[in-house]
Amino acid sequence: MRRIAIVGAGQSGLQLALGLLDTGYDVTLLTNRTADQIRDGKVMSSQCMFHTALQTERDLGLNFWEEQCPAVEGIGLNLINPETGDKAFSWSARLERYAQSVDQRVKMPYWIEEFQRRGGKLVIQDVGIAELEVLAEDFELVLLAAGKGEVVKQFERDAQRSEFDQPQRALALTYVKGMQPLSPYSRVNFNIIPGVGEYFCFPALTVNGPCDIMVFEGIPGGPMDCWQDVKSPEQHLAKSLEILNTLLPWEGDRCKNVELTDAGGYLAGRFAPTVRKPILTLPSGKQVFGMADALVVNDPITGQGSNNAAKCSKVYFEAILANDDQAFTEAWMQQTFERYWDYAETVVSWTNSLLAPPKPHMVELLAAASQNQSIAAEIANNFDDPRQFAPWWFDADQAQAFIESKSLQSVA
Ligand SMILES: Cc1cc2nc3c(=O)[nH]c(=O)nc-3n(C[C@H](O)[C@H](O)[C@H](O)COP(=O)(O)OP(=O)(O)OC[C@H]3O[C@@H](n4cnc5c(N)ncnc54)[C@H](O)[C@@H]3O)c2cc1C
Repeated sequence: MRRIAIVGAGQSGLQLALGLLDTGYDVTLLTNRTADQIRDGKVMSSQCMFHTALQTERDLGLNFWEEQCPAVEGIGLNLINPETGDKAFSWSARLERYAQSVDQRVKMPYWIEEFQRRGGKLVIQDVGIAELEVLAEDFELVLLAAGKGEVVKQFERDAQRSEFDQPQRALALTYVKGMQPLSPYSRVNFNIIPGVGEYFCFPALTVNGPCDIMVFEGIPGGPMDCWQDVKSPEQHLAKSLEILNTLLPWEGDRCKNVELTDAGGYLAGRFAPTVRKPILTLPSGKQVFGMADALVVNDPITGQGSNNAAKCSKVYFEAILANDDQAFTEAWMQQTFERYWDYAETVVSWTNSLLAPPKPHMVELLAAASQNQSIAAEIANNFDDPRQFAPWWFDADQAQAFIESKSLQSVA
């Protein structure tokens, strides 16, 4: 039986660990928080996952919340005129297949326990270089899936593939009960305020049932970068409502009766979107292979991180199986990562394009979606596979051609 160690019990590490375990691998999972610590802790993400990523979980029999979790049925967008504060335009479109967000405080503890139930070995340990050396000695393959943990900084930053070296947004999450739903279908409702930041919200499943998650993305130094003095859950909720009532009153109106889901239902922080090189060579010369956020960490503005983590997990799972009984060499690691990067590269470019001031052709595309439902539907459904945004999202001429082709279709 092949022996594999995975460090990190998040979306990618657990999904891969459970998949390998079911296929007959001897898997040891090391992580620095117990199931109860995660369950009783603060929220970590908004983790909205679209169809293809959800399917990777279904394929492994890990979709335990499919029935309980509210469906996210569409995407909506309001672009705000920063001078007047009014909506410049709006649109929404249904997703062909629904998205879902299961609080990681619900999913990860259960998956950890499921991993143990299925016979996996769990070790609670904060892993650093010394521990990686021991693992690399004992196991045929060591995967580091430690998300945004300090240890991932040991992977060299890939300067060519990393557009930023500073955080691009001040982030905050607020999990609430009592938000007025949107009709006729639920959706991730984006509000973009050029020069200020973005706010979006959508239904999810949390520790005490259905909820809505508010995500704030404030441009550093602007009015939505305002969480420094917020010390308590109550202050966090009050600040969230103050932002909405001041900048996005129609969203404030939906929140007249909201309360926090629980004392851990909030988060504020920031990080720099970064791409790292996939292989860490330890002082001994042994190698550790990174995965998901440890290597490609995106700003949450496009809600792609958990989707990427699930898809990365699937690519690695298939590559491990295909490697059969051969050694997990440096060449295999590099090739496996490049297969994931073939997918992730466009996700990163698209996400980064939304962090910079939007180019005129991007605003034109978003505006065109308010006039043409088929453009709105295409943008909405591309959240499931952002590679479909190429080439027209990235190029002014292609954008024009895309808008014209859609206009002709709607006339025909
Ligand atoms: C504010 C915010 C909103 C987000 N919203 C979305 C969204 O709507 N949609 C979406 O798809 N994604 C979203 N994401 C991103 C998503 O949560 C991550 O991309 C995803 O969880 C990454 O999975 P992972 O397996 O790489 O890492 P994680 O899920 O972060 O797991 C890392 C694991 O490693 C463990 N660990 C860390 N350091 C060590 C160590 N030294 N030793 C042992 N264990 C360690 C941690 O405890 C954890 O278990 C959001 C993120 C943030 C911050």
